[in-house]
Amino acid sequence: MQASRQLSSSQDSKEPDSKPLVVIVGAGLAGTILGRTLESQGISIQIWDQPNLGSASQVAAGIWCPINFHRLIPGWRAEEAVHKMLDFFAEEERNFEIPLMHLVPYWKPLQEEEQVAHWRRKMEEYPDWLDISEGDQEAQAMKRICQHWDVKAWGIVKASGWLNVEQYLQACHAAWALKGCFVQELYQESTVSDVFGEGHSKMIVDARGFYAWKEQQSLSAMRPAQGELVEFELEGWPQNILFKKELFIQPLGGQRFRAGATFEWDRLSPVPTEEGKARLNADLHKMLGPWWPKVKNLTYKAGIRPSSHDRRPYVGADPKSSNRFVFNGFGAKGVLLAPMMAEELTKFMIHHQPLHPEAAVGR
Ligand SMILES: Cc1cc2nc3c(=O)[nH]c(=O)nc-3n(C[C@H](O)[C@H](O)[C@H](O)COP(=O)(O)OP(=O)(O)OC[C@H]3O[C@@H](n4cnc5c(N)ncnc54)[C@H](O)[C@@H]3O)c2cc1C
Repeated sequence: MQASRQLSSSQDSKEPDSKPLVVIVGAGLAGTILGRTLESQGISIQIWDQPNLGSASQVAAGIWCPINFHRLIPGWRAEEAVHKMLDFFAEEERNFEIPLMHLVPYWKPLQEEEQVAHWRRKMEEYPDWLDISEGDQEAQAMKRICQHWDVKAWGIVKASGWLNVEQYLQACHAAWALKGCFVQELYQESTVSDVFGEGHSKMIVDARGFYAWKEQQSLSAMRPAQGELVEFELEGWPQNILFKKELFIQPLGGQRFRAGATFEWDRLSPVPTEEGKARLNADLHKMLGPWWPKVKNLTYKAGIRPSSHDRRPYVGADPKSSNRFVFNGFGAKGVLLAPMMAEELTKFMIHHQPLHPEAAVGR
């Protein structure tokens, strides 16, 4: 597979006028992935992050799944995005010499014959991504684990998995701290100007996630969605699959799991709420049936997704200023979409190549 991070400057692209320096505000997943992409092109960055603010990335499960579970169709630009993402994080694994990705399939119990028939039809359309499991050994083993439901077959999404977001962010931030380009403070415009000498084109990228909407309402079309999830221990539950029913259940290693996530548009709380906990407990109880009493050591987490009204990111030039850019709106799909969009924003900023119109900031 061709390494997607090797951004070729095509012959017809224009070269930058002077050596660019890019300030990124926000080092959640979005800002961090963009920073790494810019650096891979030899571009100097300075990245600001106020860790006490909290972030969506601190709670993200890190799962990618190119298929929409309700409609069984690919998400926005999913095919391109999944290849870019796999290339990007494979290269990051080599750079940091740590495993970051867990390539695990999603398993969903299909309890109605019509559901099975629908899955089969979609499987013919998307054979690389979808599969079904019925009589084989794995399906039988899963059936024994889930005896409390009448499972006709298991719908499988093959091209899914999860990224260890916490470890990835830690690795990048530690590398930047060593290099001296990571400022762990609230962004101050006046301080930034000091680090830029003459002859540099200064660019600023707003990657503040939900805070871009909260503080300035600058992305007024953003539709932030609060989410809560729960981590717990459960002996005997499978560790080799992502499980999907009312919630996802994600294996974290050992006997540890993560389940979630809720979606709440009217209660934008960055901390777990009683309503969120009750909802997670009820859904988990319903899903796990006889396994529920064995669940131990529950820890609840919450964050605010920087979502958009049409589930597409905001990536491009800030309409109000010539040297400012926006990298935001990744909603529930930061892991899948940010590597592809970071590559495209880099090409736009440095080589003036056009951006995807459906991600336009002012739409
Ligand atoms: C419960 C939950 C589960 C999720 N699960 C998944 C999942 O499984 N897969 C997936 O792909 N995505 C998931 N997401 C979504 C994912 O978290 C987001 O897509 C992604 O983290 C967005 O990253 P971001 O960098 O845009 O925003 P954030 O992570 O919110 O980062 C913004 C950063 O900007 C900083 N900041 C803001 N203002 C300033 C300022 N003035 N100065 C300096 N710094 C500033 C903040 O401190 C913060 O670190 C989940 C989200 C939630 C809430």
